[in-house]
Amino acid sequence: MELKLYNTLTRQKDVFTPIKPGAVSLYTCGPTVYNYAHLGNLRAYIFADVLRRTLVYNGYKVKQVMNITDVGHLTSDADTGEDKLEKGASREGKTVWDVAKFYERAFQADTKALNILPPSKYTRATDHIKEQVAMVQQLEKNGLTYTTQQAVYFDVLAFEKKYPGEYTKLSGQKLSEKKVGARDEVYADPDKRHPADFALWFLRVGKYADHVMHWPSPWGDGFPGWHIECSAMSTKYLGKHFDIHTGGIDHIAVHHTNERAQNIGALGTPAVERWMHNEFLVVDKGAKMAKSGENFLTPQSVTDKGLNPLAYRYFCLGTHYRQPLSFSWAALNAAANALTALYTVMAQPGLPKVGCAELEAKFLAALNDDLNTPQALAVVWETVKSDYPLSAKKRTLLKFDAVLGLGLSKVKKIIIPAKIKKLADERLAARQSKDWPRSDELRAEIERAGYTIEDAEDNYRLKKIREK
Ligand code: AMP
Ligand code: ZN
Repeated sequence: MELKLYNTLTRQKDVFTPIKPGAVSLYTCGPTVYNYAHLGNLRAYIFADVLRRTLVYNGYKVKQVMNITDVGHLTSDADTGEDKLEKGASREGKTVWDVAKFYERAFQADTKALNILPPSKYTRATDHIKEQVAMVQQLEKNGLTYTTQQAVYFDVLAFEKKYPGEYTKLSGQKLSEKKVGARDEVYADPDKRHPADFALWFLRVGKYADHVMHWPSPWGDGFPGWHIECSAMSTKYLGKHFDIHTGGIDHIAVHHTNERAQNIGALGTPAVERWMHNEFLVVDKGAKMAKSGENFLTPQSVTDKGLNPLAYRYFCLGTHYRQPLSFSWAALNAAANALTALYTVMAQPGLPKVGCAELEAKFLAALNDDLNTPQALAVVWETVKSDYPLSAKKRTLLKFDAVLGLGLSKVKKIIIPAKIKKLADERLAARQSKDWPRSDELRAEIERAGYTIEDAEDNYRLKKIREK
């Protein structure tokens, strides 16, 4: 079945065909490890995980690379350019390296709790300084940079001249409208030529004279700009032409626009075939959940409320990734209840047998329509409520879970003791011989033992109602 995916670059859903038959190369913009990932960030990784699992479900082999941004980068305009990692380090009385290590591990634990599969490869920015310097050198050689006393910049106007229309292709913004990138704005540099120019390499001078992380470079001691790491590492591990690059929509106008320009400028090719972006998780009044905001919720916040973190995953699946998702505890509770109801179905005795082909086809059609997970969840419930035997439903739900990742295969089966099963068999025999008083007696006995029995055609269904 055809897989259609929305491409930010072409602004349409189009049929996905991998560059190399059977294999997909996927790059996911990873976390900046100076704090915990909040639920908004994790929405981005749940989206990338569902994408990856959908590709696998469609029979592709997927190589997924994710960067770990462990070099300090500047915080938003609001707090005018502090280094994120140094900020984290002074907050916690640790070294920047320890902060990065700590939050990298925390990120991996959080993604595990949300059943997000680890990428084929994590790549740390600090392990790839050489590659980043080499790419900046290539850009310099191609006449697309200039150096001031503070930094080496990407020269957007020179790039536009060489590749007309390419710089703004991803964002669709006019260059004249382009605001200064929030992340990489160098403190007022009088020699910066255009507001859209961005730093490729910061020099360890002026405000950054004491910058903790620094490396030698042809331009002097310093540290890389933010965008260059993704260009250098994605093309190192996935090649000069790879299939998909993901991230949140906030990355379109600055980070990914700049990454694309760097690729074209240094390699002569945009490298990325398809860009995919998830919408935001928003909190009250539609504000984006942000690391600097008050509403900073993490998987731990979910656990603290006594909820399974996978309820958050279920909650995310209920809204299409290209729609904003509004967070509320009431909605998360509803998701948790739905998940428990699914677990209850899975916990019923009965081995998964042949699945429900018609529903499986519907599920695949939903996913292959640009990852329509709300529709896929509707098919889940259609399956649960269908007349298929429980064993078939379970089989199908387990298949679905290869993409949904709701932990259905880990649900403990309810083991019905032989004694109860014997009573149920006796009751079935009593019903078949229309001995209703005996049947009622046996039902009462079964219930006293902590089980309910439902009649099914020529059979019965036992459920545990309480611990005995
Ligand atoms: P960062 O660690 O800030 O680079 O963010 C990691 C990922 O989370 C990026 O792909 C962002 O685009 C994404 N992101 C940040 N905030 C949100 C949000 N509120 N909702 C969804 N995605 C977000
Ligand atoms: Zn990136």
